[in-house]
Amino acid sequence: MLIVQKFGGTSVGDLERIQNVANRVSKTKKEGHDLVVVVSAMSGETNKLISYAEHYSKTPKRSELDMLLSSGERVTAALLAIALNEMGHDAVSMSGRRAGIVTDNIHTKARIEEIDPTMMQSALKEGKIVVVAGFQGVSLDGNVTTLGRGGSDLSAVAIAGALNADLCEIFTDVTGIFTTDPRVEPKAKKLEKISYDEMLELASLGAKVLQNRSVELAKKLNVNLVSRSSFSDEEGTLITKEENIMEKPLVSGIALDKNQARISLMGVKDRPGIASDIFTKLANSGVNIDMIIQNVGHDGSTNIDFTVPMGDLHDAKNVVDTFVASGDIREDSYDDSICKVSVVGVGMKSHSGVAAKAFSAMACENININMISTSEIKISMVIAQKYAELAVRSLHDVYQLDK
Ligand code: ASP
Ligand code: MG
Repeated sequence: MLIVQKFGGTSVGDLERIQNVANRVSKTKKEGHDLVVVVSAMSGETNKLISYAEHYSKTPKRSELDMLLSSGERVTAALLAIALNEMGHDAVSMSGRRAGIVTDNIHTKARIEEIDPTMMQSALKEGKIVVVAGFQGVSLDGNVTTLGRGGSDLSAVAIAGALNADLCEIFTDVTGIFTTDPRVEPKAKKLEKISYDEMLELASLGAKVLQNRSVELAKKLNVNLVSRSSFSDEEGTLITKEENIMEKPLVSGIALDKNQARISLMGVKDRPGIASDIFTKLANSGVNIDMIIQNVGHDGSTNIDFTVPMGDLHDAKNVVDTFVASGDIREDSYDDSICKVSVVGVGMKSHSGVAAKAFSAMACENININMISTSEIKISMVIAQKYAELAVRSLHDVYQLDK
């Protein structure tokens, strides 16, 4: 098999841990697999480099930041190659440039345009272990770029796609993707398999484990992803095409998002184009809208409620104020003590009653539901934040996710 293994910051956090990674890589190689290893910077290193830059300037040139930050990953890649060579393996480290990762020229958040895998392929052909510095590439005009925070996951997935690898294993300090956050519900269980779409919806469970952009890319390139721990031999969670999952559970997991705020608009002029006006302005201010509810209008006015990430609340308020000033909205109010709980599962596509069960679970706990939205594979409810943990546990229970 051709395997891409990616090790995150904590997995390569110090010299001993890099040795630990070398041992694991060595074992995989001895099992007869071809191997490309993608590494992050040692944990804390990227932040440290940013603070060094900020010592001189609050607004360092982004191209210089890329020059600086890309060094973190290169250090780890070279150290790992040195450790592997010492163990008798033929390993070679490569910068993003040598690995053929070509990006656009948007410094500090470049997008991968294409990968020319020739160098990696010829090294693999010679039996070498290829160690690639993650998080970086080179723009068409030849400058070093980085892919945005957490971007080495993206490097690994893109490389796995370009090499048509059988597997892309993402090693972190957790053993996989769980049915819900184990800190909220200790009965949470590790999932054996999950589809790309479910993983994307469960982002709040996996955000620290897998960067969302990399899951999207894995879906697009059809890369089989495995989330597992570099500190244990436990098997991880396979993230794959829905068709590869035979037994589709009704519900795969419960996600919790506490980072939401609700905006209520009362007495909105009920005329064609008003929603377009409001939400276009919000979009232009970079506000991300999640759920929207509009009531049936009465006497020429209506109410609209919507949710935004907490960080966008301030900008959203500013936009809404302009409509209040012009008289298109009578009154507005805000609530940042809410949260969103979501039930996610591909199985609900073909089963009825899944949503009803979620609502009953809330009713049993006497939790009031403020907003509801559904998609093919997700039911989301906005409730008071003080009930967040209780709601997660009762939903986990009602779908028997601990079984
Ligand atoms: N070192 C980079 C960061 O901290 C990239 C990564 O770890 O994925 O964002
Ligand atoms: Mg990371």
